[in-house]
Amino acid sequence: MEQAEPENNALKNGYIYVPYDPHHYTFLFSYHIIMKIKNVARDSILALLYSLRLTSSTVSNGSLLTIVTFHRVLPQNLRKKYPFPGLVTTPEEFRWIMHTLIQLYDCGSVTDMMSKWKKYKKPNKPLMAITFDDGQEDNYRYAVPILKALGVKATFYIPVSAVEEGGMLWHDLLGFTVLHLFKKGPELGRVNEFIEMDFSMCRSPVEAARAVVRRAKSMDQQERVKFINFCTDKSYCPDWAGMMTWKQLRQLTHDGYEIGSHSMTHSILPRCSDTELKTEIIESRKILQEKLKVPVSTFCYPNGDVDERISKLTKKAGYTCAVTTEWKANRQKDNMFNLGRCDINPSKFLNFRGKLSKTKLAWRLSKLKRFLENLKKDDI
Ligand SMILES: [Zn+2]
Repeated sequence: MEQAEPENNALKNGYIYVPYDPHHYTFLFSYHIIMKIKNVARDSILALLYSLRLTSSTVSNGSLLTIVTFHRVLPQNLRKKYPFPGLVTTPEEFRWIMHTLIQLYDCGSVTDMMSKWKKYKKPNKPLMAITFDDGQEDNYRYAVPILKALGVKATFYIPVSAVEEGGMLWHDLLGFTVLHLFKKGPELGRVNEFIEMDFSMCRSPVEAARAVVRRAKSMDQQERVKFINFCTDKSYCPDWAGMMTWKQLRQLTHDGYEIGSHSMTHSILPRCSDTELKTEIIESRKILQEKLKVPVSTFCYPNGDVDERISKLTKKAGYTCAVTTEWKANRQKDNMFNLGRCDINPSKFLNFRGKLSKTKLAWRLSKLKRFLENLKKDDI
């Protein structure tokens, strides 16, 4: 008996099934060749710019403070199982990136780099602060040994409630729930009962997870909490995806690493009431200081979302600076409660051979790239 082919858009191994079409594959092949040529040309131009020092760190960021962001550091086999792979750096990639950055920059924690920055108007090597968001246990397990081996300090931004409860951040809880439910079909069961979204266009579980989290970010605090409680299930989350413990955080402070606050519940702060905001910003600092017995002087806005009400309260709460997710290097005259950061996504540093490239990393962090991007924005 002939087996019927799955219908268009039917699920196969967790992915949407696309029927065979020869024209489609010819198109893909030509596209692949054109992209390859484009990538070789781009790599050659970047190598030339680097050799002319036009993207060198000293020329680009001499008197500026660059802050880079990492999230999860996980081996490749676990990156494949994580709902947001774009947030993951493997330990091998992390070692390569840090090894390269310390050749180009003077790297350290936010507070250490801020005090050097105030002391030297033009330091010998441009300054760079290394930051980690979300306080996940993989940072301690995989990133810290590499930082120690290279002699680099960093700042870890901690969402307090998830550490206190030994749980997981809400977007991870939601992401793993969506991955689990997607295996049964893109209807997404209880998730869809609450938000009624059309997931038929999502080609993979990862795409569905991103769509659901995006939707949850648009909810106000109360509604989001209700949604998460209604549809998520902790049993869908693997052991390797949890948070650092207070003991591990104490060890980090003992070893000279800095701890900053990343709010209480990783809320989208502009959607919080004044009372909720006080808990997220003031209470989180108080708990971190009490538990760790160290001053906490830097804050990280979850999702980078900030407005004047939030930055004013952060300053009033006693922090000396706060960081966003806006891609920029910081000038001394900038608002210290609106510091930009460059999110490190290793896939953006690959050359046409698929290998990590120093010239590409230098390009992405360069003033020249920022300048050209601003020109493009002005055109629009
Ligand atoms: Zn975060």
